[in-house]
Amino acid sequence: MSGTVVMKFGGTSVADAQRIRRAAQRIVAKREEGHRVVAVLSARGKTTDELIRAAQEISDSPDPREMDMLLSTGERQSCALCAMAINDLGHRAISLTGSQAGIVTDTSHTKARILEVRADRIHDGLDADAIVLVAGFQGVSTARDVTTLGRGGSDTTAVALAAAVDAELCEIYTDVAGVFTADPRMVPDARKLSTVSFEEMLEMSASGAGVLQLRAVEYARNHGVRIHCRSSFEDGAGTFVLTEEETMERPLVTAVTHSTDEARVTLTGLPDRPGIAGRVMTALAKANVNVDMIIQNEPQSEGQRADMSFTVPRDDIRGAHDALDPLVEELGIGAIASDPAMGKVSLVGAGMRSHPGVAAKAFSVLGAAGVNIEMISTSPIKISCVVREADVARAVRELHTAFELGADAVRREDVQGVHRPVVSS
Ligand code: ASP
Ligand code: MG
Repeated sequence: MSGTVVMKFGGTSVADAQRIRRAAQRIVAKREEGHRVVAVLSARGKTTDELIRAAQEISDSPDPREMDMLLSTGERQSCALCAMAINDLGHRAISLTGSQAGIVTDTSHTKARILEVRADRIHDGLDADAIVLVAGFQGVSTARDVTTLGRGGSDTTAVALAAAVDAELCEIYTDVAGVFTADPRMVPDARKLSTVSFEEMLEMSASGAGVLQLRAVEYARNHGVRIHCRSSFEDGAGTFVLTEEETMERPLVTAVTHSTDEARVTLTGLPDRPGIAGRVMTALAKANVNVDMIIQNEPQSEGQRADMSFTVPRDDIRGAHDALDPLVEELGIGAIASDPAMGKVSLVGAGMRSHPGVAAKAFSVLGAAGVNIEMISTSPIKISCVVREADVARAVRELHTAFELGADAVRREDVQGVHRPVVSS
C-alpha cells in the first residue's frame, strides 16, 4: 500500500456534471493505484462570485459571520456531488465540511487562518477504506462558527490537510498546466516550469501569479508539504514546488509576474519627525488595508516637510482614504492624493541572490521600451517595479524576452539534463 495523497480540484475543474465525473474518475484512478486519497474541492465555476453578488443584493454591509455561512455552501455542493459520482464508480466516498474535517481556525470571518487540523474523522474514513472528500476554503472557528479562508483558500485547505495526514504529495489540479515563466495569456511563448522553489513560489504568489494562494505556499513551506500543480484536463507532469535543495537549478530569473490592480496613495507635506510613518501605517493596518510598496522622501533641509507614497490593492483606495483623512488635521499632513491606474511587474529568481546586475538589466530593458518606473522594491530573490497599468503587458513581454525565459530560448538546464525533480507523481 502506498501513502496518502491529497488531490485538490479548482472551480473550473468541477464546473459542470461532466467535469465532476472526470474529477471523480481521476480520484478513483489514484485510489486504484493503491493510494489513500483525500480530495479537496472548490466551489463550482463562478459559484463563489455569485454568492457574493447575492449577498450584496441583500445588504450593503453583509454580516461577516453570515457571509461565511453563505460562502461555505459552494464547496459543500461540489463535495456532495463528487461523492455521488465516486459511489457510482463502485468506490466508497464520504464528503465532509471543513468543520467536520476538523479544520479549526481563528475567528476572523471571510479571511480566517487555520490554527489546527484535528484529522481523526479523516483518518477514520481512510481506515474504513473510503475516499474522503473535504469542502475547501472553510473551517470552524474557536468560537464554533463557520469561517472561510479568503479567496483561493481551497489551496490552503489542501496543503493543511496534506500536512495533517502526512501525505506524500499535495496535487493541485487546475485549468492551467502548471506554473509558467509568465502569464501565458499575456506572453504566448511562456514556458511551463518543471520545478520551482518554495521561496520563489512565495514571491510569485505575492506578486500576482494566480496559480496558488500565498497562504497555501507559506503553509507548505513551513510544514514541508510537496506540491504538484497540474492540469485537470490533460495528463503529464505540471510544476513541482519543492525545497531549494531539491529544485537543483538556480536560474538568475525564473519568472516574470505582474498585477494590474494596484493603486498609489501619496501623502505630501508630512511633518518630519519620529513616529509619523508609524501613525500612518497603524491607521491603515487597523482598517485592514494591505500596503505593499512604500517610499518616503526625506526633506532636503531642516524644517522642510517629507513625502510618502505607497501602493495598495485598487479595491482598498476608499478604505485607505477613510483611514487617513482623520490624520490630515491631527498630524498636519499637506494633502492626500491617489492614482488608481497602477500596475506592477516583478522578476523572481533564486539565482539573483548571488548574481549582481539583474536590476541594472531589468531597468535598462524597461527604459528602452519607454516604460517609466514609478516605484521599486526588492527582496534577495525579487525585483518589483510599479509602472502605469497600461504599460504592464509590454513590460512583462520585454522582460520575458530579455531574460530569455521563452520556450525557444536555449537553457542551461536543458543542456545539462537536470530537469526532473526526485518526486513520484
Ligand atoms: N471558492 C473560493 C474562491 O473562489 C475558494 C477557492 O476556490 O479556493 O475563492
Ligand atoms: Mg484557485
